[in-house]
Amino acid sequence: MRYVSTRGQAPVLTFGEAMLTGLARDGGLYVPEAIPALGKEEIAALAGLSYEDAAFRVMRPFVGGAFSDDEFRSAISKAYAGFGHAARAPLVQLAANHFLLELFHGPTLAFKDFAMQLIGQLFQIALQRDGRRVTIVGATSGDTGSAAIEAFRGLDNVDVFILFPHGRVSEVQRRQMTTPSEANVHALALDGTFDDCQSRLKDMFNHFEFRDAVGLAGVNSINWARVLAQVVYYFTSAVSLGAPHRKVSFTVPTGNFGDIFAGYIAKRMGLPIDRLVIATNQNDILHRCMTTGRYEMGGVKPSISPSMDIEISSNFERALFEAYGRDGGAVAQLMAEMKAQGGFAVSQGAMQWLGETFASGRVSEDETRAAIAAERAASGELLCPHSAIGVKVAQDHLGAVPMITLATAHPAKFPDAVEAATGIRPALPPRMADLFTRPERVTRVPNDLAALEAIVHERRAR
Ligand SMILES: *Cc1c(COP(=O)(O)O)cnc(C)c1O
Repeated sequence: MRYVSTRGQAPVLTFGEAMLTGLARDGGLYVPEAIPALGKEEIAALAGLSYEDAAFRVMRPFVGGAFSDDEFRSAISKAYAGFGHAARAPLVQLAANHFLLELFHGPTLAFKDFAMQLIGQLFQIALQRDGRRVTIVGATSGDTGSAAIEAFRGLDNVDVFILFPHGRVSEVQRRQMTTPSEANVHALALDGTFDDCQSRLKDMFNHFEFRDAVGLAGVNSINWARVLAQVVYYFTSAVSLGAPHRKVSFTVPTGNFGDIFAGYIAKRMGLPIDRLVIATNQNDILHRCMTTGRYEMGGVKPSISPSMDIEISSNFERALFEAYGRDGGAVAQLMAEMKAQGGFAVSQGAMQWLGETFASGRVSEDETRAAIAAERAASGELLCPHSAIGVKVAQDHLGAVPMITLATAHPAKFPDAVEAATGIRPALPPRMADLFTRPERVTRVPNDLAALEAIVHERRAR
């Protein structure tokens, strides 16, 4: 299995190389050269398997020779052992034809754990095998960073630096990043927005001298291995509702487009997905693009669903690559326009592809709070604000086909918003009840590339 860049100018890599690299050297994102399909019988045979066994069968075709079957099985098994639910990704029913896929039973209570825990195990195997050491730098709007730190804390061959926007993450998110005491964990609070964090991260990757000197590796949602790990729960949930014999639809609370792009991959692999619905908060650049044909930046407004407060939706580039018939030159041109002018127009042909592949909806702050309260009353389910946005948009797209909404975080990760909407303060699971009493360790950093690089150079172990 070979991986190519969405901008067409970077070396073709194996799964292992693409995973360790993250961002391609031409600024693009790695995608598989061809998407393997699972036959109808193979999909049907996933019914009744453990999450781990299903994960092995769904992901194996993408991995090629990068890991042996035994290595890959063992990584999967360790990755999900720390989850707080035996099913890993349980499905609960909200209404007659509406289901909620709970993706928040991992160690940091958000769906990011599914991919990050697996990546941590795979990095460990690959780096030990090669006797290599890497520096992981990640940017986070809250959940990626905590998931990355949880996955890499204490590992031998890795330093992990996480940039998060100072003052713009929830207290639970911040404490999950600042309380681990391992020496290889470095939490950096940047003076700026999440998009600033993501831009500085991209700058570091594009500064090849620095990149090579520190052995920079990326685990942000652009990392192909993360997208791949997220494909699995589309299969397990759809199969439990009758796929491949019955169609299902999905609604996905969306920011960086990684989670919903995994749904698109599942569909391309043969899973009968009817609709893939993008749900955005008031930072609705994706919904506006889907409805107007222009991807146009206008500034991020902080919301009660901070993990979706995004304007540069990195993985959308992968969808554009498909929409433009895998023309890397066309994608590179759009991205150059975005950098120079803050936006670009999507061609008519590409818009048609996007419209046939995805639907979309937007939810305001007031509607988000109302949706949390309404769902509590209707089914008793307490939703985090991101999941509530998904549920609200899904309700506007319900039809004959069963709808699965992805619940991307646990309500206790955003207790203030949930309490304001329902009067109920959700409790943290007992296994992390001491989070608020552990000491914090964090460095405040300016929104400046040179200063950041100096900190990474100085702090990493050699
Ligand atoms: C990351 C995140 C999202 C957005 O997912 P993308 O893959 O970036 O689209 C939504 N909800 C929560 C809780 C998240 O942590």
